[in-house]
Amino acid sequence: MQFQVETKKKMEILDITEQLKRILPEQGEGALLVHIPHTTAAVTINEGADPDVGEDLVRHLERLAQGKYLHREGNGPAHLQASLIGPSVLVPFKGGKLELGTWQRIFFCEFDGPRTRRVQFRLLAGLENDEQ
Ligand code: ZN
Repeated sequence: MQFQVETKKKMEILDITEQLKRILPEQGEGALLVHIPHTTAAVTINEGADPDVGEDLVRHLERLAQGKYLHREGNGPAHLQASLIGPSVLVPFKGGKLELGTWQRIFFCEFDGPRTRRVQFRLLAGLENDEQ
C-alpha cells in the first residue's frame, strides 16, 4: 500500500502524520511500518510543534553533506542525507491511534526535489489480532 507526495523544493520536510493516521484500523493494536522506496529521500520522527525544527534539520544536513562526491549524477549529497536519516520507521498503534509522543510527528524528507515521491506502508498486526 502506498500514497504519493509532491515535493516543491530541493530539500524539504513534509509532515505525513495525518495521511498515515487515516489508514489505521479502529480496533486492535500493532505497528505501522513506513518505508520510502527512494535513494534520495527518507522518513523520520521528530518534533512537529515548531516548524523551525524541520528547517534546522534541513539546514544542518545541507551543511553536513558539503564536499566532493564521485557520483556523477551530481546528487551525492542527497544520497548521503537519505542514508543518514534512513528509509523507514516503525510506529506502534492501538485503538486507531499512533502511539507517538506528545510532540512527535512523522516526516517525509526530500533531499533531491522537487519530485513526485511514494510513501509505502504496512500494518503489522499485534498478537491480539491473530486468528489461531
Ligand atoms: Zn544519484
